[in-house]
Amino acid sequence: MIYIYICKKCFYSFEKLYPSQQNCQIECPKCGCDNLETQQSKTLSNHIKDYFLTDRS
Ligand SMILES: [Zn+2]
Repeated sequence: MIYIYICKKCFYSFEKLYPSQQNCQIECPKCGCDNLETQQSKTLSNHIKDYFLTDRS
């Protein structure tokens, strides 16, 4: 299952293949904040990619 994390501090979003146990702490690779919003929709994944492609072009 691929999860999408969105950092609530710097709004950096990244995907991570999440292990079965949900105890390990995930941190934002950009700012190290652990206040993350988690999504698990592949549709949203495409939406985020589309958003970033548009944003960076
Ligand atoms: Zn962050």
